[in-house]
Amino acid sequence: MDETCIVSADVVVESSARVIADGAIAWQGDTIAAVGTREELCDVYPKAEHQTLEGRAIFPSFVNAHTHLCLSHLHGAAPYDGNFAAWLQTVLHAILEWSEEDHANSLAEGLQQSLATGTGAAADILNDRLALPAYRGLPIGGTVFLQVTGFNPVVADVWMANIQQAFADLPNGADLGNLSLGISPHAPYSTSAKLYRECFRFAEEHDLLLMTHLAENTSEEDFLRRGTGVYRRMLRERGTWVPKWKPPDMTPVEYFEAEGVLTDRCIYAHVNYPSSSDIDLMAKRGITAVYCPRSHAFFHHAPHRMDEMVAAGIRVALGTDSLASNDSLGMLDEVKLCRERFPRMSAETIFDAGTIRGAEALRVTDKYGTLGPGKKASFVVVDVGEPVDASRAMEQLLSPESTIDQVFAWGQPIP
Ligand SMILES: [Zn+2]
Repeated sequence: MDETCIVSADVVVESSARVIADGAIAWQGDTIAAVGTREELCDVYPKAEHQTLEGRAIFPSFVNAHTHLCLSHLHGAAPYDGNFAAWLQTVLHAILEWSEEDHANSLAEGLQQSLATGTGAAADILNDRLALPAYRGLPIGGTVFLQVTGFNPVVADVWMANIQQAFADLPNGADLGNLSLGISPHAPYSTSAKLYRECFRFAEEHDLLLMTHLAENTSEEDFLRRGTGVYRRMLRERGTWVPKWKPPDMTPVEYFEAEGVLTDRCIYAHVNYPSSSDIDLMAKRGITAVYCPRSHAFFHHAPHRMDEMVAAGIRVALGTDSLASNDSLGMLDEVKLCRERFPRMSAETIFDAGTIRGAEALRVTDKYGTLGPGKKASFVVVDVGEPVDASRAMEQLLSPESTIDQVFAWGQPIP
């Protein structure tokens, strides 16, 4: 059996519901054996290798509920001037130039940054499935979502054949470590209703998760209402416009509902512009929405309605989005900006959005999102910039002064 290791700290936050003063974590190999007070664990494991971290607090690793790690080399490459479609075109053009190796290197960089900043599990969208080996052997969990896109319904069959091949190539021996494979139809303005329905049908059949972009900006509703605006221009420029397509004249959320693709099997990124009735509908369907605070700020969106969504009973998780619209992949910066934007929301709600909510959406609560026996020994050691106070440790984590001191992933310190 693996040797037992213990770290103890002034405070261990096992979950938002359980904060332990003078706490400790004991683990064997990559798995937590126990979480309790320093005294308790020293009694149970007297021979364990014990590291004491003075003046520090330990939190579960974060769960990044929406990212595109393979775009990490695009940091700063696509400035935003108010036209999202133009920004997206710049991103798409840039990756068209990439070799398979460039793609893999960009992904590897994103993975490395994620681990170093305390992400334990991620919902990551991958453009090129040939880059999949980059995930192998890394102490990270969650789902890799293969992106599919195509506005012309005639390409749906080609994409589905491609997806079937990808899953056939990666049976049980997929060797993606602790990651699962999922599907990501891109967005309502880039992907046909037919391709959406097929992806959902395939995911249902194989019990897979999905992720998509939804109501990211106001142009999306213009497009679905009237078939006009920047997305129509973008599709025409790309030669994928479908002249006989009729706009459904609905909000993006209503459109998904009408197509049967608003379900709890899917994670919906952004949802920056829901109507109040959209919020009710999403709550009824039990969906997960992902707010990406810094990417949201990058695109100068109107205030997010996360607080109303949470109040309505929607599961809202947090994500970084890609480095093409963010300065880092650090989830600590996301929870901090979320706190700044929603000063009246409880620290627990925001902390949960950065940890357990994403784990629930990814169906990995047995391993990530909180600390506890049987879960992965993935956690962050934080200097909160003042003496740690168990009664407000989560608030201290969200304060501008907190910094990550050390990251452990699967029981190993990340350099
Ligand atoms: Zn995205």
